[in-house]
Amino acid sequence: MLIKEISYHKNFKCLEGACPHTCCHGWIIPVDEDEFERYMQEKGLLKLRLVLAMLFRNGTGFNVRCGSCTFHTKEGLCELQLKKGHEFLPGACQEYPRFYRNYGFFEERYLDLSCIQAVRMFFDHMDDLTLTEYEGKEGSGKCTTNDDGDYLKALGKCRDEMLSLLKKCHGAKELNEALIYITDHAKRAQGAFVLGDTDFLTRESVAPDVSDAVSLNKEIDPMERNIGDHLSDKATGRKRLFPLSAEVLRDILDTGLYSPRLRMTNPTLHELFTLPLKKYRSLMRSEDSWETAWDDFVKEYPKAVKICSAYYSYYLLQYYFSSFEDYSFLRHVNMGIIQMNMVFLLMCLKERSKGSFSDEDAMEIMACYNRRAYFNEDVKDEMYDTFMSHFFIS
Ligand code: SF4
Repeated sequence: MLIKEISYHKNFKCLEGACPHTCCHGWIIPVDEDEFERYMQEKGLLKLRLVLAMLFRNGTGFNVRCGSCTFHTKEGLCELQLKKGHEFLPGACQEYPRFYRNYGFFEERYLDLSCIQAVRMFFDHMDDLTLTEYEGKEGSGKCTTNDDGDYLKALGKCRDEMLSLLKKCHGAKELNEALIYITDHAKRAQGAFVLGDTDFLTRESVAPDVSDAVSLNKEIDPMERNIGDHLSDKATGRKRLFPLSAEVLRDILDTGLYSPRLRMTNPTLHELFTLPLKKYRSLMRSEDSWETAWDDFVKEYPKAVKICSAYYSYYLLQYYFSSFEDYSFLRHVNMGIIQMNMVFLLMCLKERSKGSFSDEDAMEIMACYNRRAYFNEDVKDEMYDTFMSHFFIS
């Protein structure tokens, strides 16, 4: 099968005992039926420990309390791997953070940004998020029931256009403009497909001329061209997708994204989430104070916009093709906009509390945030509904 993988995919090497945010902490580790049967063939103390590790999940997972996996040693290594080898681990541990999507015609491969080492590699390649292609054996089963190759090709064209647009965004205003184009296009695509206009993606570009830099030129400025007028948010009346208004961000923070249990499962994120509740209430109290705060942060750390743009691009690479199965263009592009804005907010909060900000801080935020916000469908649904309630009002 044709494999398309992020160019540095093969260079990934786990940090093992040196990992500051090990994936052996904070998550339930799924165990499938075959793995369960395999573990039941063990004997003696190891079998007892395996049974106990899976006890409260009816044999479907380790680390049910989302603390530290019982097989995670003081040295930060995996006891199962040390004793029985890599093949003995649950599939999730063997593959993590490798992310596969087999669309039937080809398979795409990424490294998930919930792993700190994957984030470091992403930072090293932010300017060049390209896919390497070769023939190889697929690493996963098909993730879709759709077999419409032309539709997948059209989605690929749109994704390329979005990535090309995002690559040219160096300032917050440009990024906001690009996002307006992207969301507007997704909304129109959604409407077109509902009416049976399945040529829409092939016919309509994401933005007028993506070969030009996004600019304030009136020919292309979405504000001037009345693009995305449905995107004016209720709080400010402005077309603002980056950064989102303080009111939208506050409401998203108020969803199940925050949980007191994060204190145990994801302490770094817990600390950041509680900053607006305790120390920095004023930061998001009004739109003006938020505007000043994020603007100051971008002046202090101009790379923030580029990081956000690349982060959103990576999101589109991983998830935009979910529309191949469900045709939910709008949901997929907007979910990425929500995630990117939350990462940006956390960066602002971190800088405020620490008094400085570095790439390392941004990487830590990304890994800890992704771990929380990408794997819980209920939380994502709530975040999405909350976001949508601020837009598309007419
Ligand atoms: S989070 Fe990544 S680098 Fe850290 S232990 Fe897990 S796979 Fe290795």
